[in-house]
This record gives sequence, C-alpha cells and structure tokens, in this order.
Amino acid sequence: MNFQSPTEDQRLAVESFRKFLEAEIRPVARQYRDRHIPKEKMREITQAIAEFGLPGASLPEKFGGMGLSYVTEAMLFEELCTVSVDIALCVMINKGFALVLSEQAPAIRDRYLPDFLAGRAFGGFCISEPDVGSNVADIKTQARRDGDHFVINGEKTWITNGDYSDILIATVLTGPNELSHVLVDRKEHGYESRNIEKIALNSQSTAQIFFSDTRVPVSNVVWEQGAALKNTLRLFEKARANVGMLSVGLMRASLQESIAYAQERRQFGKPIAGHQLIAEKIAEMATLVDAARLMCFRAFAMMDAGVRCDVQSSMAKWYATEMAVKVCRDAVQLHGGNGVTKEFNVERYAREAIVIPVPDGTTEIQKLMISRALTGIGAFA
Ligand SMILES: Cc1cc2nc3c(=O)[nH]c(=O)nc-3n(C[C@H](O)[C@H](O)[C@H](O)COP(=O)(O)OP(=O)(O)OC[C@H]3O[C@@H](n4cnc5c(N)ncnc54)[C@H](O)[C@@H]3O)c2cc1C
Repeated sequence: MNFQSPTEDQRLAVESFRKFLEAEIRPVARQYRDRHIPKEKMREITQAIAEFGLPGASLPEKFGGMGLSYVTEAMLFEELCTVSVDIALCVMINKGFALVLSEQAPAIRDRYLPDFLAGRAFGGFCISEPDVGSNVADIKTQARRDGDHFVINGEKTWITNGDYSDILIATVLTGPNELSHVLVDRKEHGYESRNIEKIALNSQSTAQIFFSDTRVPVSNVVWEQGAALKNTLRLFEKARANVGMLSVGLMRASLQESIAYAQERRQFGKPIAGHQLIAEKIAEMATLVDAARLMCFRAFAMMDAGVRCDVQSSMAKWYATEMAVKVCRDAVQLHGGNGVTKEFNVERYAREAIVIPVPDGTTEIQKLMISRALTGIGAFA
C-alpha cells in the first residue's frame, strides 16, 4: 500500500494537474461560486480535465483509459476535490459511468465510452425516488415489457448531473421484485429533468428526472436483467471511497486557509496561532484530514490489490464526510466574524460539507452495513 510516498511519475502527474487546476479551474469555480455552471461551460471544463486523464485514468488502455492504478487516479481526483467539489462531483459520476460502460458489450461500450473519456458526455445514476432513498429495494419506477422494448414510467430524484445528463443508468422494476439497470439516452428515448436548489453545491446539477412512456430497447439493459441490487452494491464499493475524497478535498482547503489565517490574524498582541486553543484546533483539524485521507487511500489500495473493500469504503465514506462537517465548522470558528461572511471561502466549505454525508448511502446506512458485515446480524428494519 504505497500511497504515502508517491512515485516520480505520480508526483509529476499530480504536480502538473495541480498547476492546471490553479490556472484554469479555480478562477472558473470562483466565478460561478454558488451559481449554476451552464452545461456548455461545464462541458468545456470536463473536456479540459479529460486531458489529464479523468474520468478514465484507471480504465485499461484497450478501452481508451490510461491504465493507471486506483491510487494514482485518486491522487489526481483529490486535487480536483480540493479546488472545487462541485466540478469534482460531476467528474466523479462520469468516472463511474466510464467504468460501467467499459464493462458492457461493444454495441453500448463503443458507442458511448469515447465521449465520456473525452469529457464530452454527462451521465447520471438514477436510483433514488421521492419515496425511496435508503431502502433501494423499494424502487417503484416501472419498466413494462412491450416486444423488444421496455416502456419506463416514474420519477427519480436527487440525480447528480441530472440536468446535464446525455444518458442515464436507471434502476427500474422489470418484473415483480426484479430490479434491473437500463441505459436511457436523452436524445433517442427521451426524459425530462428539473434542477433542485440545495443549501450548497449548486454550481453543478442535482435534478429530478421524469420518465413518461420512455421506450428503451431491451438490449439497453446494463449487465444482466434482474441483477441491479448486486451491481449497485458493487458500484457503491468504489463510489463511497470517492465520495470520501470529496470531503477530504474540502477539509484540505479549510485547513490550508485556517493555517494561513491563524498565522496572519493578530489578537492580544500575537498571531492567533500562538494561542493554545487555536493551536489545538489546527492540530486536531490536521489529524482528522490525515485520518480520513488514509482511510480513503486504504480502500483504493485494496481495489488495486483486487481485494474486496466494501466495509473499508463505507468506513472511509462516513468518517471522511462527518469529519469534514467538524473540520469545516472549526475553520469558520477559527476565522471569527470573517468566517461567516461571503468574503471568505470557509462559510461555503461548511455548507458544502453538510451535503456530503447524505449521498451514496447516509452515515447511518454506512454504519448499519459495517455492523452487519462484522456481526452477521442486520439492524436495518
Ligand atoms: C447532493 C446529493 C446528490 C445525490 N445524488 C444522487 C444520485 O446521483 N443518484 C441517486 O439515485 N441518488 C442521489 N442522491 C440521493 C441520496 O442517495 C439519498 O438522499 C440518500 O440515499 C438518502 O435517502 P433519502 O434522502 O430518501 O433519506 P431517507 O432514506 O428518507 O432517510 C432519512 C433519514 O433517516 C435515516 N434512516 C433511513 N433508514 C434508516 C434505518 N434503517 N436506520 C437508521 N436510520 C435510517 C437516514 O440515514 C436519514 O438520516 C443524492 C443526494 C444528495 C443530497
């Protein structure tokens, strides 16, 4: 598990990506602070980021990826998360999409994957519904068989990239108690989306999706029919460590700005960093960032080793996202009155941190899953 001392190649890749992010992406993220980035602008951004390997860094070269390790990909992703969680969220979903597409038959893979790897296309994973959140097995969106098509009716909600999306992978009922993943193309099959305004992270899209007699060929079933629950868990194993990285990025940004402020701001005749309670806060923040980061990287290293890591990924997700709420709140406190103004970034980080413990399974759900894996006894119902 060598993620503490990067190789020369990793160091160079991260350094050049960081320079690009500072020069090209940070100014755009600042310009759109708390405002929606229009689709065409977001496409420009994702195309520029694709030049550095995201979203396909860890895909095999035979599929157009870079064949890098999950750890190396995570090192790059961490830099993006530190600059903009909004843009990182959008890229993270496209990363998941690229992975799923790479596992499909050539008819689907070759048609869609190149656009994702080039940052030209946007995907969305549609699981949640107005009455279905934590309990995925309760999904109600119907896909009725009609000859060699499914006719889909229903509503999905909270879909990241929803308004941007060109294609979706929707979890739908293809029979009684039979959940399947179906690929839906907005242009070809048709669906509507409506953006949802949130407490933060409004530069990217979280949306409702409406399927109304949406006709999709049966050949658009992703993986095999009826295997959606099994495959959702497989996807979550990778996704949750990535969600943890979103929060690691936020914590890193909060810590950097807090250190600079504590060195600069003077009270009682000295920099506030020289007051012991502020020193303690800085030390605790730095420790939590490190712990969360190490937990995420452990999961990525296990993925590279081909070892199952759903428990470790769940641990990394709940821990990183909850610690980010604390670290980002401490950063506001450390900034005093300035911390709650729009003049400083830390108030936004604190709002963003609150959002991340919810998606991809809430903190409570992660803990239930970890406990079930350890004891063999479920405590969900
Ligand atoms: C920013 C954002 C992006 C998202 N992106 C996507 C996406 O791309 N695709 C998608 O399909 N969904 C997405 N979601 C939806 C997300 O996955 C759900 O919000 C989440 O799973 C929780 O579901 P819910 O909101 O319905 O809450 P509920 O399931 O109603 O839960 C409400 C509260 O009860 C708790 N709870 C529920 N069941 C139990 C239990 N058995 N024991 C103890 N506590 C319990 C929960 O932890 C939570 O605190 C996103 C959400 C957000 C906020």
